[in-house]
Amino acid sequence: MKNILKTGILFLSLLTFGGCKKDKDLVEVTIPEPEKAVSQQVGDPDDVKAEDPDGPFQMIPLPYAYNALEPFIDAKTMEIHYSKHHVNYCNKLNAAVKGTELENKNIEEILAKLDSKNLDLRNNGGGYYNHNLFFEILGQNATEPTDEIAEKITLDFGSFDEFKKHFSEKANKIFGSGWVWLIVDMNGKLVITTTTNQDNPLMPNAEQKGKPILALDVWEHAYYLKYQNKRKDYIEAFYNVINWKKVNEKFNEIKPKTE
Ligand code: MN
Repeated sequence: MKNILKTGILFLSLLTFGGCKKDKDLVEVTIPEPEKAVSQQVGDPDDVKAEDPDGPFQMIPLPYAYNALEPFIDAKTMEIHYSKHHVNYCNKLNAAVKGTELENKNIEEILAKLDSKNLDLRNNGGGYYNHNLFFEILGQNATEPTDEIAEKITLDFGSFDEFKKHFSEKANKIFGSGWVWLIVDMNGKLVITTTTNQDNPLMPNAEQKGKPILALDVWEHAYYLKYQNKRKDYIEAFYNVINWKKVNEKFNEIKPKTE
């Protein structure tokens, strides 16, 4: 009798379990939990400081939390990028300029007059500048461009969609590590250009020179945890986390000098 009862309970349990499995809503609710738990195991960007508190270059605070750009850029990637890679460029840049005449110059001046054979300064000075811009122009609740930058994009590329098409094409063509840029060139025109490693359009060796107002990091460390080999998906996701208000501000800072 007991055995029959046990079998009956088992049978009922299987039926119930089978019923749950078919319940689409229940499955959708349970899947995101582990991801959420992982995302929360990150530190505070404000705790990240340059090794030398008196060094000329310091960490610029992130204007958002590590998880602010999810699901497009995950919290763990943001944390490693800012608290390991970026701070490392900052520390090595401080070490590279220590005791030299560059100690009192700002990063733009240093890069504009860079000796490209000085690889230590080129890689770490570039890394410091590039990441500052990248982190500055990212943001949550991102929208499409507005105001002056929206008009200028339409003027120079035809439309925002055309701009995205060209930007993605250039990004996807980069072989290995590098950056995609939206710059204001010497004639005041918006241009999309790319550089390898930590080079940028301010450097004397840049093929296309100008003032950057938007940057996308396509080094593997910027996306590999979430996107693995799917760099194309990361590039498309980028359009969801651009702070166009900030890009517009940067465009307006440069504009008077070029017109
Ligand atoms: Mn990077």
